[in-house]
Order: sequence, then structure tokens, then C-alpha cells
Amino acid sequence: MISQEQGTSTLIGGAAGPGAALVGIDIGGTKIAALLVDGDGAVLGRGSVGAPAALGGAAMADAAATLAMSLAAEAGVSLAAAGVGAAGVIDHETGTIRAASATFVGWTGFALGHELESRLGVPVRVENDVNAFLLGEAAAEGRTDRDVLGVMLGTGVGGAVLIDGELHHGPHGAAGEIGHTPGYSDLVCTCGQIGHLETLASGTSIALRYQESTGAPVRDAREVADRARRGDTEAIAAFDAAGRALALACATAATILDLPCAIVGGGVTAAWDLLEPAIARTLATDSPVSGIPLRIIPAVLGSDAVALGAIETARRALVPAGAR
Ligand SMILES: [Zn+2]
Repeated sequence: MISQEQGTSTLIGGAAGPGAALVGIDIGGTKIAALLVDGDGAVLGRGSVGAPAALGGAAMADAAATLAMSLAAEAGVSLAAAGVGAAGVIDHETGTIRAASATFVGWTGFALGHELESRLGVPVRVENDVNAFLLGEAAAEGRTDRDVLGVMLGTGVGGAVLIDGELHHGPHGAAGEIGHTPGYSDLVCTCGQIGHLETLASGTSIALRYQESTGAPVRDAREVADRARRGDTEAIAAFDAAGRALALACATAATILDLPCAIVGGGVTAAWDLLEPAIARTLATDSPVSGIPLRIIPAVLGSDAVALGAIETARRALVPAGAR
């Protein structure tokens, strides 16, 4: 166990001095993954464990803390701070979960930040996982945009907004939830409302739309992608509909907030080759009239993005904005 004194003295010495490390923890409904980096960002270790989401918040915090401490012990370093990207609506100031899906038992109201601080003995920052994803991707090598929309196409559709290099949370911590904006179809969304972006653009929806149009059962969007690449016109149409809806949503957000870049991640982007034609066609006809040169690009960090973004939130909490 790392003492509070060690953590504090490291902070006084800098963001992460020699031998001190930052850990980023990606807490999902089925898996908890963690990435350990040194003060220069070099990866010292990584690991994952199953997420005990049905056992409640304390069990999740125990699993996350044990994983983080075991990575630090294996690498022979002490932790300076931890960042977390977690599912649900998060109060990023306190690290408390405000709302979450039913998959997570006892998650709503759970003081995840405080619970992890008491287990790890270091400062902990908690962000929504899509916010963390965007922060990680926007900080990836070669990226320079400071005003970016993030869209996550997974089993659902999540979103996040970066303005002048900082995450925009909104008064309820729910800014950027582009997946549940209306007007894209007449289909019922997972939230119960009609026509949301998610009804066309999530992996679940791509598989459902293909099944509805063909009557052919498919496992998932990956199987639809395989069929599209073999020339199945209904499979191509499902990805076209997803790409067009995605691009329209990005163009709307870009127009409102002057965002020149949208970074798209999540499992569906493995089929970027199938989304891209409709994205390009849509941007050719529906680009922001304000002249914003909107680029819609795929994520590059893969499954590390949330953990890397979580590390970035922890790093930013240690280093004042003026010193970054
Ligand atoms: Zn919805």
C-alpha cells in the first residue's frame, strides 16, 4: 500500500518525479483496464480484469485499485496520481457517479473518486469514459486541434466536446451526448425516444437495420461489415445510413460550436472503409455553410484511448493550466 505521505511529497516535487507514475483506469461494464506510465508518458505496464459490475460500486473500486497497485508494484514505482474513465454521467469535480445504466449495480451515487483515493492514497480524477476517450485522442501524437467533437460508436453512441483544449462538461456533466439527438430516422432508440442518431449509427443498430431489411440474422455489425465487403447491397446500405447520420450530426455540432474536427472511435470504426464513402458524400452536400473545414477522422489509440485520456486528466490536475 502506498502511503499518503509518499503521494504528497511526490506532488510537491512535480507531476510525477523519478520513480513515480500515473495510472489511467478504464472502467467499463465487462472489463476494467489500466495503463501505467512514467512522468514522461512512457508505458510501464498494462493489465485488465473482469468488471464485477453486478456486485456494486465497492467491488468495482476494489478491483480497480487492486489492478492499479499491482501494476505499480510490478513496475517498482509509486503512484503520483490516478485518472479514471468510467461509464455513466460523472460529476468530474467530485468523482461521484450521477447516473448510470442498469448494468452497473449500485453505481449511481457512488463516490468513485473518494473511494479510490482512500484505497490508493493518491489524488484521483474521474471523467466520463467518452470524455476521457476524446481527451486521449486529442492529445495523441500529431494531433493539433484544440476544438474537437468526439463520437464513440459502440453498442450505443456516445459523444464529447473539447473546446480550446478543455473538456466542456455543461451544468449537468452531460454535454456532447450526440447519440441521443433526434431527427435521423423514425426508429425507436434504446432510450425509448424516436429517431436518435444511435438508431442508425451504433453497432447494435447497424446489425438490427440489416436484419430488418433482409430477414437474415447476424451476430453483430462486424458480420454486416464482412457481408458489405463481399458486395451485399443491404449491408452496404446499413453502413451508408450510419455514415450519413454520423456526418450530419458532426456537421450540426461543428456549425454550432465552430469545431473543425470530429474524432470517431469505438468498435464500429473497424469498418471505417464502409463508413467513409457516405461521410464524404454527406460532407460534400451538407458541410457547415460557415466555411468551417470540417474533418471527420477515425481514432488512432484503439482500446488505450480511455486510459490515456484518464491519465491526461490526472496529469492536468497536478500541473496548473499555465504550466502546460
Ligand atoms: Zn436515444
